[in-house]
Amino acid sequence: MMQYEHILIRYGELALKKRNRGEFETQLVRNIRKNLKGSFPNVQVERTFGRLYLSLHGEPYEKVAERLQNIFGIHSFSPVRFVEEFELEVIQKAALEVMLDANPAPRTFKVITKRPNKQFPHRSQEMNRHVGGYVLRNMPDLKVDVHNPDVELIVEIRTNGTFISCRTIKGAGGLPTGSGGKAMLMLSGGIDSPVAGWKTMRRGVRIEGVHFHSYPFTSERAKQKVVDLTRILSKYSGGMKLHIVPFTEIQTEIRKHCPEHYTITIMRRFMMRIAEKLAEKNGALAIATGESLGQVASQTMESMYTINHVIDTPVIRPLVAMDKEEIIEIAHKIGTYETSILPFEDCCTVFVPKSPVTKPKVDVAERCEVPLDIEKLVEDAVNNVESLWIDPAEPEVEHDFF
Ligand code: ATP
Ligand code: MG
Repeated sequence: MMQYEHILIRYGELALKKRNRGEFETQLVRNIRKNLKGSFPNVQVERTFGRLYLSLHGEPYEKVAERLQNIFGIHSFSPVRFVEEFELEVIQKAALEVMLDANPAPRTFKVITKRPNKQFPHRSQEMNRHVGGYVLRNMPDLKVDVHNPDVELIVEIRTNGTFISCRTIKGAGGLPTGSGGKAMLMLSGGIDSPVAGWKTMRRGVRIEGVHFHSYPFTSERAKQKVVDLTRILSKYSGGMKLHIVPFTEIQTEIRKHCPEHYTITIMRRFMMRIAEKLAEKNGALAIATGESLGQVASQTMESMYTINHVIDTPVIRPLVAMDKEEIIEIAHKIGTYETSILPFEDCCTVFVPKSPVTKPKVDVAERCEVPLDIEKLVEDAVNNVESLWIDPAEPEVEHDFF
């Protein structure tokens, strides 16, 4: 395997956001450093000429590249060879090695030489021919195509040496996590909410998970599943908090005092109230859910309205207009699908009424809730939250945040 010295990082979308560019860049650099420093202590992140360069200092390119693919804000990146000697032959050899390492093997290419170092004796056009000719002689199946090549072999001759690259790997895109505030993600064990969390993070928003757990109606395994899902999500942010809310008492009270067809609606209203309180406590300005329109009885427009009615905090629904197939495709891509489909019960599936109301009304829900001591139930749940810090690699440790 070839040893690369650098990785060039591009962050296309940031360039568009002129006003905030510096801030985004700083956040991106911070996120990259944080993600890599534990496992690859020698890697250095540098900002030069409006670009980001990682200097690998002997760390393995492939492993570092795997990490970069999860970091939001990176549009694409390229492994780069660096040679210090300003000798044509050395540059030609390195260029050939870079071409031979390209995967899949290109059929056509073109050389693009940039020469900010005007001391270098060969002009750009000349270098294109020297390097191109050498590569062609050594890779007989390859052809030149100046209009639509499979790869562009970029040779950049700077004052400190020459940078050579030909591969561009697509990054996760979006905006750097942490550049867009914080939201509480309502995280069930299902397919949708982890995807909603990923999409929210991809817009630069930091998330903390909130999970409602009804032990012993739901098992420890069901809770572990949510911890596992959080750990997968945490790979994209370098770690995240998960708040586990005891929900047994509230569900029991609802079942005891409220009409069966409204139990789901009322349960969800409690979830919102609690999520809002946790948002306030943790400095989040929004709540994110995996709801999409029309999937199930609890996700009609009327239902969203009635559920949303109990809080003032904005609710973000990144999946609201997506098809299930699209959502599943993303779940596969981000690595949550296999865990999401494990068959552990959720607090919402334990108490499914025979015929839940599909068009719940605010005034009816309010009347159904009259027998409940809403404030106390919410307060008790919030006071007994178990908060975990989930690290992408390590087992969770318990924290006392409040
Ligand atoms: P998911 O696949 O995310 O479970 P779903 O299609 O099963 O979603 P619902 O059961 O109606 O839909 O849940 C809608 C949303 O409510 C979820 O996406 C999630 O954000 C939130 N939610 C549901 N159950 C819980 C729970 N036990 N803890 C936290 N949030 C929950
Ligand atoms: Mg669900």
